Amino acid sequence: NAAKADQNQPIFKLLEEVKRTVKNPPKGDAVVYWMRMEDMRISDNTALSQASELAVKSGVPLLVLFVLSPQDYKAHDRGARRIDFTLRNLRVIQDSLAQLNIPLYTLTHTPRKTLPERVLSIMTQWKVKNVFANIEYEVDELRRDIRVSELARNGGIQCTFLHDKCVIAPGLVQTKEGRGYSVYSPFLRAWLPHLRDTPDPLSCLPSPVANHTSARCHDVYGSLFNHEIPDAIEGLELRDGDAEQMRKCWPAGENSAKEMLLRFLYTKSRGSQLGQVDPLADGAKAPDKNPKDSRVGKYKDARDRLDADTTSRLSPYLAAGVISARECIRATVALSGGKVDASRDTGIGRWVQEVVWRDFYTHVLAYFPRVSMGRPFQEKFANVNWETNEKHLQAWKDGRTGVPIVDAGMRQANTMGWMHNRVRMITAMYLVKDLMIDWRLGEQYFMETLIDGDLASNNGGWQWSASTGVDAAPYFRIFNPYTQSQKADPTGEYIRHFVPELSNVRGDDVHNPSGNLADKLKYPRPFVKHSEARERAIRRYKVPGQE
Ligand code: FAD
Repeated sequence: NAAKADQNQPIFKLLEEVKRTVKNPPKGDAVVYWMRMEDMRISDNTALSQASELAVKSGVPLLVLFVLSPQDYKAHDRGARRIDFTLRNLRVIQDSLAQLNIPLYTLTHTPRKTLPERVLSIMTQWKVKNVFANIEYEVDELRRDIRVSELARNGGIQCTFLHDKCVIAPGLVQTKEGRGYSVYSPFLRAWLPHLRDTPDPLSCLPSPVANHTSARCHDVYGSLFNHEIPDAIEGLELRDGDAEQMRKCWPAGENSAKEMLLRFLYTKSRGSQLGQVDPLADGAKAPDKNPKDSRVGKYKDARDRLDADTTSRLSPYLAAGVISARECIRATVALSGGKVDASRDTGIGRWVQEVVWRDFYTHVLAYFPRVSMGRPFQEKFANVNWETNEKHLQAWKDGRTGVPIVDAGMRQANTMGWMHNRVRMITAMYLVKDLMIDWRLGEQYFMETLIDGDLASNNGGWQWSASTGVDAAPYFRIFNPYTQSQKADPTGEYIRHFVPELSNVRGDDVHNPSGNLADKLKYPRPFVKHSEARERAIRRYKVPGQE
């Protein structure tokens, strides 16, 4: 079954298509870079860099196309926050490109099935013979691009799809048998030597070159400059107040992403900072004198602390491609005196390993596309007996399960559109193992709610927590949410911040209020007893299908 579902991995079909593309077409009147949702930057962007190089060589202008596809967003559970972040970044990009006299044309297209035809008809209208795009690894997107390639070939257009999302591209890191890795440690060992490959991930790609000013005068291209980016997509608008909150928490643009990186590499955590919405308000540009004290310096030991703001918070920027993963790795190399540090023993090394997890899950999606089709990687867990309980699911989403750390995590997601990794694992495992609710419902909610929603990492994280994925937690390893809470939030500050009903609870009671204290609080009691829920989960996983 598994082999059948993964047959004809569309990524390799697309790469075959790329080989068959029209070779050396006439130069056309312009070169197009087709920007995608995961490419929200101008610098260090593979397809944009190559498109610009060809435009300069051919002496024709470079045009940038972005297609908004509401049906795709809805089909893939893209949330309003993620869409809003895309639109905000597009506006920054539009301004930066305009300074280079390069137009960004944003098109909204429905229905999704006819998108390839629409794009190709625009290429014909613009008299374009060369199109460049970075690859999106989701199955539907790959199938779309295969169709685009076929149509382009028939129309005498050269379509070049390039790897860009990962530091090391899928297809390069594989087992001796030519298969994808399903265990992280050997993947990491095989990944590292590729850092020395050509094209070299450790050097920045050339930025696009400005269009010659006469290009603006062209009848067709001139009008592209006046194109407005919509404020929202119908049906995916942000709720009142949320837009402002998202703008503060996650400012758009490459400069913001770079500041976030500097903040992480060179400044130290100043406690939880949970009340401070804007992460860049704390002087990201004032490096600490002792680099060992910086967030990355402390990352090895402090990264799991929910009450200490120790991680980079770069995930929204990496998921949308506002910064490249290569740039993150390069910055760590510079900090380690020119060496690649991916060891478990240093802060930098541990952080590099996390960035490699992002590559790993994208490779898993490319090699085992069934994971994105609602199937478990480990097929033996396809028939686990799940509870259908709307009330429990809704309480989990709202942060009202009566388990403080779970509720704090879910409320962080609901207010910030982001969660710390540890609390993602705790909340996910609680839904799946304690409430025994199907992991796919949690996966969907995270995609809809988180601003960093990324199919590969989200699916990887959920299948890890549900014990159904690659290199996943064994099914009998079930987090105790109360001991997890004490370890990850020893001060209780994180819970008190996100669960105001508990803001006056002192000491360890905040992790698990019980007895008289619980009676007095306006806070729900848990639906299940952890020890009993744990037994139930083990029983049901051991013999899938069992009650
Ligand atoms: P840092 O600790 O600073 O790590 C740096 C970067 O490495 C991150 O920005 C991210 O790009 C990458 N990274 C770190 N941990 C992981 C990981 N476990 N898997 C993959 N990449 C990782 N990450 C997303 O970007 N999008 C998601 O939709 C997403 N969903 C998740 C769902 C679950 C159930 C779990 C357990 C994890 C999920 N993650 C997801 C991974 C991880 O939780 C976040 O990347 C991380 O919390 C982001 O915070 P940060 O940028 O401060 O991370």
